[in-house]
Amino acid sequence: MELRDLLIATAARAADFREQAAEARVFPDTSPETVRDALGALPAGPAPAAQVVDELTKAVEPALVASAGPRYFGFVTGGALDAATAADFLTTGWDQNGFNATSSPAAAAVEDVAATWLKDLLGLPATASSGFVTGGQAANTVCLAAARHHVLAQAGWDVERDGLHGAPRVRVIVNADRHATIDRALRLLGLGTSSVVPVRTDPQGRADVGELSTALSEVDGPRIVCLQAGDVNTGAFDDFPAAVEVAHRRGAWVHVDGAVGLWAAASPRLRHLTAGVAAADSWSTDGHKWLNVPYDSGYAFCAHPEAHAAATAYTAAYLAGQNGFRAPSAFALESSRRARGFATWAALRQLGRSGLADLVDRCCTLAQRFAGQLAAGGVTIGNDVVLNQVLAAFGDDERTRRVLAAVQRSGVCWMGGTTWHGRAYLRISVSSWRTTENDVDRSAEAVLAAFRQES
Ligand SMILES: *Cc1c(COP(=O)(O)O)cnc(C)c1O
Repeated sequence: MELRDLLIATAARAADFREQAAEARVFPDTSPETVRDALGALPAGPAPAAQVVDELTKAVEPALVASAGPRYFGFVTGGALDAATAADFLTTGWDQNGFNATSSPAAAAVEDVAATWLKDLLGLPATASSGFVTGGQAANTVCLAAARHHVLAQAGWDVERDGLHGAPRVRVIVNADRHATIDRALRLLGLGTSSVVPVRTDPQGRADVGELSTALSEVDGPRIVCLQAGDVNTGAFDDFPAAVEVAHRRGAWVHVDGAVGLWAAASPRLRHLTAGVAAADSWSTDGHKWLNVPYDSGYAFCAHPEAHAAATAYTAAYLAGQNGFRAPSAFALESSRRARGFATWAALRQLGRSGLADLVDRCCTLAQRFAGQLAAGGVTIGNDVVLNQVLAAFGDDERTRRVLAAVQRSGVCWMGGTTWHGRAYLRISVSSWRTTENDVDRSAEAVLAAFRQES
């Protein structure tokens, strides 16, 4: 089969999958072991490309999760917009190296445009630097590397040259309910998890600003503060105006993990939740969550481009660009890299400013609808539904876990479980452009049926 025919047939398979994802079981009943057994024997020789795609599709399709469909509420998972999906196909077909404007003028230019649009939509300073990375984890790591550079430089230490041996101790004062990727970033950056000074949170997961202030005054030396826009369980936002002011008064760098919640800034109705966020020093967010860009996609923004570049840029004689155009790889962890700007540009172009606001608003309205229907059925809602996240409890933890397992088995929808402030919950995240009121109603019914069945 010619490449042309193979690609057309392959795109049709992807389209078939995405169409039937609306009605198929949301979570498959085929195990990973079955797939491994089907594909596991190392072939002795080559095979035609069309046969390879056939073998792969047949073996994996029964074990695919319909997370691109409208009733997947696990983790924080977008459904991938049509234009972004198509642009991601092109990214593969074009196979550009997004290193710099010499390896691909197109990739460098499109990242530049998309970054400018993102900063505008997210309410961040137009002068901030940006790195297109693989997700929130990488974005947190890049931002905290910039923070590490900056606070140590202020203390007279060149961490890029001298490393951390003998360096002044950096303390990282964080919301106690932070995402675990903050801790992994601190491990990777050599700051270590013992550098963490946790700040007590309220029942929604908002850092207590009084405690933050006390923690800042009790430790000396270089300090980084990590706040959250959109807790991954409750959707709660830290009090940015007060917290950033306190942190800056003490000379700390403020990083905001906005993987989920920074998108509230794109909605005139919800923007107030992010008030004051623009005064921070760095921000991370995800493309593959609420922007509905296919995996993988994340963004690191930094108010101090020189600190960002000092942490992540490198030069080598053979890499010098032909022109002065900004090199995307200087602001990311990767050297050779996927041209992630194409899919992001396409998502933003498909939605436009109003479409993005509608997407964010709709998901939040649907989350409230979900919570309302569950509450009417006697379910305890464990959080203030301020964003797209809902926590639901069904009596004691044991029963909540039984209900969760029954919902997951039902195939009607899928959602995960969590532990929040010591209690078990079923965790709902409404993040897909495909989810409708009808999907929420069907899913709430499935949850309530499981609740009755597990009584
Ligand atoms: C999802 C998430 C992350 C990690 O993002 P990945 O895209 O999974 O790397 C970090 N912080 C928060 C608040 C998140 O919700």
